[in-house]
Amino acid sequence: MAEQMRELVARAAAIWGRARAVVALTGAGLSTGSGIPDFRSPRTGLWRGDDPMVVASLETFRYSPETFFAWVRPLAGQIQRAEPNAAHRALARLEAQGKLQTVITQNIDELHRRAGSQNVLELHGSLRSLTCVHCFQVWPAEGRLERFVAQGVLPRCPRCEGLLKPDVTLMGEELSAAVWRAARQAARQCDLMLVAGSSLEVMPAAGLPLEAIQRGAQVIVVNRDPTYVDERASVVIQADVNDVLPDLAKAVGAADAAR
Ligand code: ZN
Repeated sequence: MAEQMRELVARAAAIWGRARAVVALTGAGLSTGSGIPDFRSPRTGLWRGDDPMVVASLETFRYSPETFFAWVRPLAGQIQRAEPNAAHRALARLEAQGKLQTVITQNIDELHRRAGSQNVLELHGSLRSLTCVHCFQVWPAEGRLERFVAQGVLPRCPRCEGLLKPDVTLMGEELSAAVWRAARQAARQCDLMLVAGSSLEVMPAAGLPLEAIQRGAQVIVVNRDPTYVDERASVVIQADVNDVLPDLAKAVGAADAAR
């Protein structure tokens, strides 16, 4: 197993070494190693009783904000306590070495940025800011979210007392058009896409690897579970990203130094 893994990592690194524009598409699997569960996964059990498709929706936020905030509170607390892991740091190193141009992430936890990645497209937003549903003023989450997590008091607009909505994309809500446009452009212009820690089940993000492939890019998949794109990928490593990305980054860096 270890031998087979080394071989796959070496093959992936060789492809990476020949690429000129690399994009990483990351999902929940990247952050499970930091203690943030994949809330869409039935395995976590964190949201037992609550269907995230319902409770994390724009509908629920509008008509029953207490239900929504009760759901988001433990997640917000976990995100506040979480630290970037070895997989986040490996991607940040690759970017610093000029071997990775863009990270497109489905995660809202900001761990890529905190690990040092600069060019991050957060498809589903983040908890960094909150927007007033009444006057649309945007407020930094700092302090407000901590207070909410600690005391459970719903965050309200200091200007008009309207409810503040975290700037994350809820079910039934469109992605930010600007971020989505930039992500599609990156996917179309890359010649290598790394899919890391995503089972590619959530649209429209899941369609990005296919767009890259249709324009001639190669794809490397590192994920515990199979994905629909595996059969068209150049290398598929079915393992935890934390066990693979640090070695892969090292191999890419070493291949570069040996040139
Ligand atoms: Zn307001």
